[in-house]
Amino acid sequence: MRRKLVAGNWKMHGSLAENQALLGALKAALNGLQGAGVAVCAPFPYLAQLQAELSGTTLAWGAQNVSEHAKGAFTGEVSTSMLKDFGCTYAIVGHSERRSLYGESDETVAKKFMAAQAAGLIPILCVGETLAEREGNITEQVVGRQLDAVINAAGVEALAKAVVAYEPVWAIGTGKTATPGQAQAVHAFIRGKIAGLNKAAADGLVIQYGGSVKAANAAELFSQPDIDGGLIGGASLIADEFIAICKAAA
Ligand code: PEP
Repeated sequence: MRRKLVAGNWKMHGSLAENQALLGALKAALNGLQGAGVAVCAPFPYLAQLQAELSGTTLAWGAQNVSEHAKGAFTGEVSTSMLKDFGCTYAIVGHSERRSLYGESDETVAKKFMAAQAAGLIPILCVGETLAEREGNITEQVVGRQLDAVINAAGVEALAKAVVAYEPVWAIGTGKTATPGQAQAVHAFIRGKIAGLNKAAADGLVIQYGGSVKAANAAELFSQPDIDGGLIGGASLIADEFIAICKAAA
């Protein structure tokens, strides 16, 4: 059976003091949790704090983005080796906010995915459709295209060492959650598409759901056969909510 993974995406939130309180609560409640992995993805400046606070616990940490370049004249960018220096396990790539606000193309996301893996990080590859795309009945086309960019560049086997997060754009930070049935249908599509190329990679692939997951809806979402945990934005900033979500996955 696949292990579930819940990852928090703090987005551009936090302060040293706020993080300290949140991490203290998470460690007290989640260190040693059986049955589900737990990770938090913080803004770059706080990775050192995560390393200091979470080393020696079962909680992992990661970044919300990473450069596709190894080093050089890329002002403002952060490389995979820098993330490794701070003990990161994960790097989110292709979050819809990166795609829509910062113009990251499928090809750029694929390069970031490969750079992360080459450095020994586990990419959390975000895919998902906008509301207009869902209403236009092209959800599978869009998600398929986003996956193909990575499969064509990295090979389908690369997905066996990655996490995919299905995040319908219309559900992120909006309070509108996909129904368990809607989410399961897309998760099954993703797993089926990959199974058509490599069954072992598909069977082992952790596919998270993201989009307004909260304590009140987590258990039902996570009980779907192809939903292997969640990528959690807003609710990952509230200790009690995030703890309950992680426990619902375990
Ligand atoms: C996210 O940031 O990836 C996310 C899913 O946000 P939220 O849980 O707030 O919808």
